[in-house]
Amino acid sequence: MNEDCIFCKIANGIIPSNTLFEDDDFRVIFDLGPATKGHALILPKKHFENIYKIDDDTAAKAFVLAKKMAAAMTKAFDSDGFNIIQNNGECAGQTVFHFHMHLIPRYKDDNAIEFWKAGQADDAELKELVKKVQENL
Ligand code: AMP
Ligand code: ZN
Repeated sequence: MNEDCIFCKIANGIIPSNTLFEDDDFRVIFDLGPATKGHALILPKKHFENIYKIDDDTAAKAFVLAKKMAAAMTKAFDSDGFNIIQNNGECAGQTVFHFHMHLIPRYKDDNAIEFWKAGQADDAELKELVKKVQENL
């Protein structure tokens, strides 16, 4: 646990929260500034800054938990869809540097989240990108 990290303190119960779910590895809480009704966060109890740092076991468990929470929250809130969002790095919108997954119930016509503008794929560039990624796997 990182003493200076707010999500470490919340995840480990040092700062109280409305907890939707807790087990040995995670706590699920409501986001302080919800995009929609029920917007929640999956917080691992161990401190990992982001996806580059999280261990494989916790990463795998996090997505299984996201699946379980999505099903329960969709039923509970009678939502029409669901976004799972996970930001890494300041330029990607990360503001709290303790790995977390956003669980965002969506409601018809809520217009709650703006997504990217679609660009144009270029086949030569894609071939180059495939090569570069494969060199780094
Ligand atoms: P991100 O921008 O992906 O790093 O997301 C950080 C999220 O944490 C934002 O949606 C904030 O509203 C939320 N947040 C920040 N502090 C707290 C807190 N003390 N309790 C609950 N949510 C928080
Ligand atoms: Zn932390």
